[in-house]
Amino acid sequence: AVQNYDVVVIGAGGAGFAAAMEAKKAGASVVLLEKMPSIGGNTLISGAEMNAANNWVQAKKGIKDSKESHYQDTLKGGDNVGDPAMVRVLTDNATSAAEWLRDEIKVEFLPDHLFQFGGHSVPRALIPKGHTGAEVVTKLKAKADQLQIPVKTETKAEELLKNSEGRVVGVKAKTAAGQEITFNANKGVIVATGGFGSNVEMRKKYNPVLDESYMSTDTPGTTGDGIVMSEKIGAAITNMESIQTYPICNPKTGVISLVADTRFDGALLVNQSGKRFVEELERRDVISKAILAQEGKYAYQVWNQAVGDIGKTVDVHKDEYDMLVKEGLLVKADTLEEAAKHFNIPITELQKTIDRVNGFAKNGKDLDFHHRGKLIEMTQGPWYIEKAVPSVHHTMGGLVIDPETHVLDTNGKAIAGLYAAGEVTGVIHGKNRLGGNAIADIFVFGRIAGQNAAAQK
Ligand code: ADP
Repeated sequence: AVQNYDVVVIGAGGAGFAAAMEAKKAGASVVLLEKMPSIGGNTLISGAEMNAANNWVQAKKGIKDSKESHYQDTLKGGDNVGDPAMVRVLTDNATSAAEWLRDEIKVEFLPDHLFQFGGHSVPRALIPKGHTGAEVVTKLKAKADQLQIPVKTETKAEELLKNSEGRVVGVKAKTAAGQEITFNANKGVIVATGGFGSNVEMRKKYNPVLDESYMSTDTPGTTGDGIVMSEKIGAAITNMESIQTYPICNPKTGVISLVADTRFDGALLVNQSGKRFVEELERRDVISKAILAQEGKYAYQVWNQAVGDIGKTVDVHKDEYDMLVKEGLLVKADTLEEAAKHFNIPITELQKTIDRVNGFAKNGKDLDFHHRGKLIEMTQGPWYIEKAVPSVHHTMGGLVIDPETHVLDTNGKAIAGLYAAGEVTGVIHGKNRLGGNAIADIFVFGRIAGQNAAAQK
């Protein structure tokens, strides 16, 4: 079968939805292809916090920030390997993308709470209602329905089609039922298929360290299809060895822990001996490495009710919390001693650690690990201790795009008719993506891709 559209978007995560909507708004006919039975990709299961410098919540809270500071933090956070021009586009447009989500897509963000993720100079990450991508993806789908954008699930893109002049003119796809469909694209194809964190073979090909001994936080569809498909028709790929582990994940499943977002509000990380070993707001790669250097290759995150009450992560992620408790991976107890006992952590050492941090909290200065956020004095229970391991989370490498999101070939020339946005691209985050920057990335560049593909003659 053959179907004709102006713009064909591959992948129904955040980047794909943003691209499809902008293309449609610009007057193009659009289709969105998704290989899985359900939409949302990693965008759905993420915390979906979004960095945006000078956003409205910062204004309300009197937090001083600048696009320049976001730019510097992002470049530095990736060891200056990201393309500065691309990082500039990201950080200059993140706030307008967040306002677009708020005003056009009707995403609800918490009015008075922000996260300061590792590597950021100030709290600048907006938090969607419920602290997950569900709020974002639900609203995106509703808007797509309203705009009458067909979203075809169980439809896997398998090949990008070029015409005799080398222009990308369509996509060959296969449905779960085995039907082959060619989607012709009069104007362009946008690749928004996400990363390759769930593809162990591909991980090993580019970075043998991240083999099957690592679990992944990613959805099973995160297999790098868009990278492979584009490479086959001449696209350049870059930075493929840069694969990020998220430090605080479920030791049994590898799933990211959102309950543990108390880390951004002052929770501590300790090892089996009850000692701190890293700054809790360090970069993800640094914390992950530090955890793997501890006895047993795991860590414990410790907080009390006062810290928990700031972000209320136990309430907003109730299902995860109940599951962790049931599995014995998280304990809540009235006294620190009782909580420590559950994990056989020596209470005298742990109490010493807490006392020392309480001193730092009072004086406003962490003399041991230079915590860049706000340490909170923890004196009263209940106490929470959660066990965690690092798990593969984000692949920084991928397709080379320019600021207009054209996919470049191995000679650095734009491949006509081909655009890409989101985790499938590889030129923004360098060696390490900072928390809250993926959501900014997918919406900034997804929108640009949609606008440019639709504007194509
Ligand atoms: P991003 O954050 O970049 O938007 P996501 O992981 O949220 O990425 O979304 C990518 C989506 O693309 C996922 O829903 C995934 O299942 C889908 N996808 C991946 N490969 C294909 C493919 N070959 N055909 C169609 N959809 C795909």
